[in-house]
Amino acid sequence: MNDNCIFCKIANHVFDTNMIYEDDDFSVILDANPATKGHCLILPKEHYENVFTLPEELTAKAFVLAKKLSASLKEKLSCDGLNIVQNNGETAGQTVFHFHIHLIPRYNDDGQKIGWKPGKPSDEELAALKEEIRMN
Ligand code: 5GP
Ligand code: ZN
Repeated sequence: MNDNCIFCKIANHVFDTNMIYEDDDFSVILDANPATKGHCLILPKEHYENVFTLPEELTAKAFVLAKKLSASLKEKLSCDGLNIVQNNGETAGQTVFHFHIHLIPRYNDDGQKIGWKPGKPSDEELAALKEEIRMN
């Protein structure tokens, strides 16, 4: 546990919070400033800053848990959709530097927007980029 990390303290019960799920590896809490009703955060109990440092086994478990909780939230809240959001680094919007996955239930009239400005690369640019970043 990192003594300077708020999510370490929340995930490990040093600070009280509204927790909706817990197992050996994760605590899942209600976001204090939710985008919508039911906005939750999946927190590993161990401190890892972001997806780049999260061990593979824990990464797999985190995303399987995200799927299971998404189904549960959909059933319980009857939401119309759900965003799974996960920010890494300040530039990407991360503000708490303890890995977490946002589950954001969406409602037709929620007035929220999670998105980006679509780009317009040429076919050549996309093909060159594919060569640059392909993994196999
Ligand atoms: P990030 O921007 O790092 O992806 O998301 C951080 C999230 O943590 C934000 O949605 C913010 O509302 C939430 N948050 C920050 N501090 C606390 C806290 O002390 N308690 C809870 N429950 N949520 C927090
Ligand atoms: Zn931490």
